[in-house]
This record gives sequence, structure tokens and C-alpha cells, in this order.
Amino acid sequence: MRKLLNELSSDCASAYHINSDIKIDNITVPENLIRKSKLQLPTISENELFRYFTNLSRKNYALSTVFYPLGSCTMKYNPLVNEYIAKLEKFTMLHPLQDLITVQGSLEIMYNLEEILCKISGMDAFSLQQAAGAHGEITGLLIIAKYFASIKQKRTKIIIPDSAHGTNSASATYAGFEVISLKSEKNGNISLQKLKNILNSEVAAVMLTVPNTLGIFEKKILEIAELIHENGSLLYYDGANLNAILGVAKPGDMGFDIMHINLHKTFSTPHGGGGPGSGPVGVKKFLEPFLPIPRIIKIKKHEFCFNYFKPNSIGKVKAFFGNFPVILKAYVYIRSLGKEGLKNVSKYAVLNANYLLAKLKHKIKVSCEDKCMHEFVLAPKVILKNGVKTIDIAKRLLDYGYYAPTIYFPTIVEEAIMIEPTETESKQTLDEFSETLLKIIDEIECNPEKVKNSPFNTEVKRLNEVVAARKPILKW
Ligand SMILES: *Cc1c(COP(=O)(O)O)cnc(C)c1O
Repeated sequence: MRKLLNELSSDCASAYHINSDIKIDNITVPENLIRKSKLQLPTISENELFRYFTNLSRKNYALSTVFYPLGSCTMKYNPLVNEYIAKLEKFTMLHPLQDLITVQGSLEIMYNLEEILCKISGMDAFSLQQAAGAHGEITGLLIIAKYFASIKQKRTKIIIPDSAHGTNSASATYAGFEVISLKSEKNGNISLQKLKNILNSEVAAVMLTVPNTLGIFEKKILEIAELIHENGSLLYYDGANLNAILGVAKPGDMGFDIMHINLHKTFSTPHGGGGPGSGPVGVKKFLEPFLPIPRIIKIKKHEFCFNYFKPNSIGKVKAFFGNFPVILKAYVYIRSLGKEGLKNVSKYAVLNANYLLAKLKHKIKVSCEDKCMHEFVLAPKVILKNGVKTIDIAKRLLDYGYYAPTIYFPTIVEEAIMIEPTETESKQTLDEFSETLLKIIDEIECNPEKVKNSPFNTEVKRLNEVVAARKPILKW
């Protein structure tokens, strides 16, 4: 094998002989870019190559090797069978410009998913076009703008609690609104009085995340919805935490008018590193005319087509019809779990979070009273001493073989550590994780330098994140 590779590589090398007159399709390669020495192709065996890539993959932190308690992002186990189905050639070889007659099955899947999402959320119609949660927010806000334009009301403001994800304000601003920040109560709940004080005839909508980013359910949601509707404003649901209430409660029943779902968080798609995603937007009936085009319509059983004629639609928000493989994975996930299975997803997510919370709250202050939904936020400020900060705890966790939780979010909790164990982790994993976290808390006392200088066991040590962001090295 090695001999063969050697021969091949020397053939390659001679093919790349040095010639200053190389021309590719009549383009002359500048002299300074022409290779001056022979190409050094590595000569390695298949075994070596295999080991090289396997070892490279081990340097990564991923859900397939470690516990990944990244709060708000919902890094749950995504069944491999979903990946397998999304990879079937019958799906991957489709082209969005194909004749509709030849893609009826895919349209049916999309149509069915829209219907299922309506049932799960209590909304009346869904659009699957959006490529992420943030994209869903922008779409939703453009719909809200168009709705008020259609009833000739000038409403320019969006109220967003200070515990919200940064994308909420960014999307509202991007859609042309002015953002009014609503100060949350200690546990992230809304204060009805404070909300009353800032509601006026200029407010188009209030965006809420339920359960909120501290993992607490908004108990007064019905009163809040009534207040907002009395004011003539709309209520937007950020669905990033929908995995806490599946099959148990519906945003539509709580009074929300419009929402997005992060399919990649709640309904199975590996999404580390920022993609891929899908952020379907759901609306109550009165907002349906404004949804992006095209809309899938059912002509009769197993027969579907697109409707581009929706005069009040905000238009298109993405090329073609959405991120189809993610839509497909969500469909398979939901269909394979069924109604009871989905309910269990939420029940176990909440149970696991509360189990972990119970193991930690005696030692570390938490931002909720005694119970949480699918995630919780630790507020370790009072036990941080000897110069140790939350970031050091996160780095030290890497040494013990864990992916770090979300830190410094939500911003209303100082030194926040946000933990979301998800429904798919075992009691043993949660026990080990909580023991490790408590061990690190002890280390803050007895060996602070170790915590501050961690990690020791990772491929790269501490990075200077400011330099990395300001002066990124993009080639080597
Ligand atoms: C993740 C998240 C978003 C944004 O969703 P993306 O799919 O990452 O664009 C918005 N709000 C909350 C609460 C989130 O956790």
C-alpha cells in the first residue's frame, strides 16, 4: 500500500513540474504563485489516515462523547434514525425546481408537519420557510408590522423583558421597531404593574419566552395576555423553550397570537456550531393572510400544490421552501414519539432539571425558589472567592470531561451558569455531573489556582477570546 501511494504521489509530483508558463483556460498564473518545489504529498497507510481522522474527531466536544448541558440551546440527543432518513437519496436528490407532480410526497410531509405543529402549539397556521429561530422572529415581527398597517394603526414599539435572548431585540430593531426593555422580577417573571406602566397605544407587541430564560413558567400569563390584548397589542411567543411544555400546555391557549418554534432545539437536529436550523412561524387565524408565500395547499387526498397568490403576504423570506432536511427530521421525530412520547419528552426534561437542581441548590444559590421547568440558572456569585469567576468553573468542567453549560446568560443574573440537562440523560450522568460541579466548588476554596488556570486536559488551553474576536487568524 505504502509503495503504491509512493508511486502515485511521485507521479503526482512529476505532473506538477515547475513551469513558469502554466496556463489554465487562457489565464496566466502569476509567477509568484507558481510552485517552486515539488509537492510534498504525505505517504501514509489507510490505517494511519483512519487513526488521524479518528483522533482529530476526539479532540472535539460533542454530544456523542460527553454530557452537553448547554442551557437555552437544548442540546438533546437526536436519534440517529432521523439522520438516516434525512440522508435517503429519495430526499437528498430532490431539486427545489422540480415539477410539483414529482415531489408530492415531500409536500405532503411539509403540509402534515404544519398541521402537527398547529396541534402542538394551539396556533391555526404555520409557515416552515424560516431558517432559524431568529429568522422566525424577524418574520413574525414583519407580520405584526403588516397587520397593523392593514388596520391602519401606527404602532412602532415592541416590549421585550430584560431576561430575553439577544435575538429578540435584534429582530425587533431589524424589522423597524423601537425596543422597550421591561425589567423582570428576580426570577425572571413579568411584573403586571411594570408592564401596565409602559403599555400604550404605540406598542405593537410584547415578546415573551415561556418558560422564561430562567426556567420559570409565567404563572400570570393569562392576565398578561388579557392586559396586552386590551391595549390592542399582540403577544409573541419565543418558542425556544417549547420542549418544557410539549403535550402539556399550548401557547395558543395561553393567549399568544404568533410564535416561532426552533425545530433544531425542540424536535431533533444536531445544531452545534450555529447550524443548520429551522424556525417555523405559527399564527392565529387573523394573521394567516400575512404568512410568507408560497403556502402549501391540499387539493385532495395526497395532492398538494403551492399558492403564491396571497395579496397580504409579507412575501418570501427564504429561497425556495425552507430547510427541508431539518423539517423532515422534526417530522420523523414527532411521528415516531407520538402524543404520549412527546409529553414524556417534556416531563422527563422537567424531572431531570429538577433532580439536578435539588442536588445543587444546597451548595449553590439558584435563581428560582424551589422548582424549575426544563432548565435552571445558578447564581454562584456569593461562593466565588479567591479571584475565581464563573468562566473558570466552566473551563474546569472541560478538564473533567464535560461540555460547559451556558454562562453569563441570562444577563440579569450575575455570574450566571445556565444548565439544561434535557430528557435524554440518565440519573447516573446527572449524579456524576453534580458531584463534579460540587467538587469544583470545593476547589475554589482549597485550590483556586487550579480552577483559574484550567483547562489542563484539553487540546488547547485558555484562548484569549478578545484577541480571537478582534484579530482572528483566518489562514495559516
Ligand atoms: C436559541 C434561542 C433563540 C434564537 O434561535 P436560533 O435558532 O439560534 O436563531 C431565541 N430565543 C431563545 C430564548 C433562544 O434560546
